[in-house]
Amino acid sequence: MADVFMNTYHRLPVTFAKGNGAWLTDVNGKNYLDFSSGIAVNCLGHNYPPLVKAIAEQAAKFNHISNYYMSDVSEAFAEKLVAACSGAGMRKVFLGNSGAEANEGACKIARKYSLVKHGPGRHQIVTLRGSFHGRTITTLSATGQDVFHKDFGPFTEGFVYVPGGDIAVLDKALDPNTTAGLLIEAIQGESGIKPQTPEYIAAAAKFCADRDILLMFDEVQAGVGRTGTFLACEAYGVKPDVVTLAKGLCGGVPAGAVLAGEKAMDVFQISDHGSTFGGNPLAAAAGLVILETVNKPEFLREIARKGEKLVSIIKGWNNPKVKEIRSRGLMIGVDITEEAWPVLEKGISRVYSIPGASGLLLLSAGKNTLRFLPPYIISDAEIEQGLEILKSCL
Ligand SMILES: *Cc1c(COP(=O)(O)O)cnc(C)c1O
Repeated sequence: MADVFMNTYHRLPVTFAKGNGAWLTDVNGKNYLDFSSGIAVNCLGHNYPPLVKAIAEQAAKFNHISNYYMSDVSEAFAEKLVAACSGAGMRKVFLGNSGAEANEGACKIARKYSLVKHGPGRHQIVTLRGSFHGRTITTLSATGQDVFHKDFGPFTEGFVYVPGGDIAVLDKALDPNTTAGLLIEAIQGESGIKPQTPEYIAAAAKFCADRDILLMFDEVQAGVGRTGTFLACEAYGVKPDVVTLAKGLCGGVPAGAVLAGEKAMDVFQISDHGSTFGGNPLAAAAGLVILETVNKPEFLREIARKGEKLVSIIKGWNNPKVKEIRSRGLMIGVDITEEAWPVLEKGISRVYSIPGASGLLLLSAGKNTLRFLPPYIISDAEIEQGLEILKSCL
């Protein structure tokens, strides 16, 4: 491995050369089924023809022009994105490059909204234990896991953490005298696909509405169709004030978005926020293909169906090593009795004799959870092939 990289990643021992659909091929020609989608990013798989075409055609015009000017493609993307989120009450969008940047934007919106409307002293943002909101200093602060709160201090002040699921604690934490916003992953991704209950989310929405605290959903991992609805919050039947998106948004071209409904959509005014790369034409061209493909009822239903199929196959094994399965669409966490990382290694290092498939790419979450985030275009046969490999890894 080239040692020019800073030593930030625990990488698995494989180097890829090309991809196609739900498959990746390494430099030695070995084929792997991809159940990870580059961590929920490549939602239409690799080398998806309309996406390749859109990116290539845009690259032949221009990649980037800066946000001093508008491009037809960025405008079309923003309009389609807001429309896709309008069922959840979203009206306007700010485009950035990543999940952390989107969450930074959300925190800024909550603080300014509260300051302008209620005056100073009401700047706190409540987040959940076990959450993950990003790697910048502020989004590390927002992340409700102590392991992230070391080495880089001082961290941004004003974050309060509550355990998910406890409505009484949330009631108390959402103090209208001190709190600007609640930032929440309805389904926690990095900590192992942990959904909040509908009762908890409904209570959170009510507290926020009654107290004029912004309800902000971090859908960086769960959004853009992954759970079987375009936004995960739709299934909870609540209308947030702010939603953040990133990972799957442009199918592999870096992008992030912070969307806001009526209450918060005009908080940002000229010079309040910005991003050099945000919403650039290349990302927008890719994002348009994602929206046109994913945001269709029948396509979203298929995501839900494939997720259910994957889960039912694993359940059918009756393997005592499988302790618990949690899922929403193609966002699936499986707790196992052994450590997850060696299972990931086995998926890569061994050569399996499943026809056509000799490796499997999986993710983990924590020590004992396998995380599945396959591309939406995966076929039933590929789900079966991948799980055959997993079966022999366990
Ligand atoms: C990945 C993730 C982030 C951070 O996104 P980056 O693009 O890595 O900055 C934030 N929130 C959630 C829920 C995520 O899954």
